[in-house]
Amino acid sequence: MRYVSTRGGMDDASFADVLLEGLAPDGGLVVPESYPSIEGTLGSLVGADYPEVAFSILRLFIDGMSDTEIRSIVNDTYRPGVFTGDGVVPVEEIGDRWLMGLSTGPTLAFKDVAMQLLGRLFDFELNRQDRRITVLGATSGDTGSAAEQAMIGRSRVSVVMLSPHGTMSPFQAAQMYSIDEPNIVNLAVEGVFDDCQDIVKAINADAEFKTTHNIGAVNSINWGRVLAQVVYYVWAWLRVGSAAGSEIDVTVPTGNFGNVFAGWVARQMGVPIRRLVVACNENNVLDEFFKTGRYVIRATEDVVHTSSPSMDIAKASNFERFIFDLFNRDADLTRSAFSGLAPDTPLTIERDVLAATGLVSGTSTEADRMATIGSVYTDHGRLIDTHTADGWHVASEYIDRNVPMVCLETALPAKFSAAIERATGMVAPRPPGFAGIEDRPQHVTVIPAVADVVRSHIEAINAAR
Ligand SMILES: *Cc1c(COP(=O)(O)O)cnc(C)c1O
Repeated sequence: MRYVSTRGGMDDASFADVLLEGLAPDGGLVVPESYPSIEGTLGSLVGADYPEVAFSILRLFIDGMSDTEIRSIVNDTYRPGVFTGDGVVPVEEIGDRWLMGLSTGPTLAFKDVAMQLLGRLFDFELNRQDRRITVLGATSGDTGSAAEQAMIGRSRVSVVMLSPHGTMSPFQAAQMYSIDEPNIVNLAVEGVFDDCQDIVKAINADAEFKTTHNIGAVNSINWGRVLAQVVYYVWAWLRVGSAAGSEIDVTVPTGNFGNVFAGWVARQMGVPIRRLVVACNENNVLDEFFKTGRYVIRATEDVVHTSSPSMDIAKASNFERFIFDLFNRDADLTRSAFSGLAPDTPLTIERDVLAATGLVSGTSTEADRMATIGSVYTDHGRLIDTHTADGWHVASEYIDRNVPMVCLETALPAKFSAAIERATGMVAPRPPGFAGIEDRPQHVTVIPAVADVVRSHIEAINAAR
């Protein structure tokens, strides 16, 4: 499989070339040059375990690695010691729908499913190329801890992670800052998430520094992350659709559109997915788009801070990949649509083109989240987190007794215990190993929002290693 940019300005590249990178050099996003069909092989995967399904999908997209190498990485990633869920990704029937549990990895959010694979793929590739890399990232919550957990003990990788000082939940902060590893540096920036993001952008724009320190990315636009997520959409159909002899609908709590885009790729490959339901919280630019055909991004100061913070976005960074497909993969059209995208210059897509995609959407508010967490607990004895609740609420609009609905569980309630307590009056149970995590010693340096300060931390960690 070769990879191209949505803006047409990149020579076609191998999987190894794109694995360690974020944006394509022309400012576009990396996509496979085509989507391989799996319609013919889907039947043979019924009854396969998760690693086997992952292997069958990943090998279609990864060139330059043998089947044995891919299989060994996949088996090491998707195993009980890493994911505690029954069968790695458990699927439970709850009332009128199914819940697919993606949050049983080391940091209790679905980002582990991709990040754990990415860490192992990085190791493999850096060893082969005899290279080192500095992963520079900005996080407002779940991404940072998933990335750090995935990179622990990887001698060729340094991680420098920026987070806004004092705004994460105490549990989320403890998850990151209690990590004590020589290759991981946490910097708490005196500012907001966008200040962190701006520093990452500034350092990435400094070509000389970027090359000297081999700066790489694991943010949500990394193609490897999207690819790892395609697997569980296939899994969802194998678990739920194949038995029912039917297509499935899948509801996805959505922020940067990485997760639901992976579902779109699975659908393009021939997985029988009828509808993908894009569930938004109050930051519903995407719901507006799917209802009106107009994508109006917002100013960052207009982002509403909610109790499902991983969905608090002004624009969805993976969206360009989807639009590229809707434009019949016309890079010129995509470039002109996205290079000038601003709050007052929306992008517009015909309603009938949208209707043919199978993507539909809805919005869930604070009141909806609270009511949903409460009612799912009362009716089914199952606690769900705030993001999952946004999805559950929106899915309810689209339940159809003829087509099974699969809701994605994107985090465990323990991560967002204040909101869970508000909704139910109960304290969310913590999985073993997380008791008292807030009391552990923390390893974090508070810095001003200045790129040069981050540069010196990168120089220091790489000099010391
Ligand atoms: C990241 C995240 C999301 C949003 O996923 P996208 O791929 O950005 O759309 C939803 N829920 C949780 C818990 C997350 O961590």
